[in-house]
Amino acid sequence: MKIIYHPEIGELELNRKKGRKNISLQYKYAEGRFTISYPYNCPIKIAIQFANSRIDWMRKTKSKSSNRIVARNLGSINRTYALEKFKNLADEICTTTGLNYKEIKIRKMKSIWGSCSVENKICLNLYLANLPSKLQYYVVLHELCHTVEKNHSKNFWNLVTKYWEDAIILDKELRKFVP
Ligand SMILES: [Zn+2]
Repeated sequence: MKIIYHPEIGELELNRKKGRKNISLQYKYAEGRFTISYPYNCPIKIAIQFANSRIDWMRKTKSKSSNRIVARNLGSINRTYALEKFKNLADEICTTTGLNYKEIKIRKMKSIWGSCSVENKICLNLYLANLPSKLQYYVVLHELCHTVEKNHSKNFWNLVTKYWEDAIILDKELRKFVP
């Protein structure tokens, strides 16, 4: 890994990776910098040219990110405690809504707060534990609704808002945070 200073967007992390076939550009919220991953045999110049070709996107992403809060930086989390808490929350929501899930797991994830598999196994981001409780509630409800509607169709949102009218507002609030 190498960090260079880009005149317009600041720190740019360069990751030359064995086995990688393409160039990808990402913004790492926790570190506050862009990172570019590129194949081992690709010249560094090409990687930087790739970044430059996406400069508008980088500018936009950076300005949007400046007011987002990084959840993982808000404090350390006890994994066992978090899992217990999320399970209780899910069970509570299931009792009031009649929804059901198969299993709940916790993982450290970089870009999503939760997911729900076809077998209705729910995976929640550990860093969710650092978010305000109403957002935790919203994410768990959101994933539980995916046990019925797998995508983000109109039916899905109808279902979520049936259980919590303010869900759309909470969904917007959630975007202030990144894992
Ligand atoms: Zn979803």
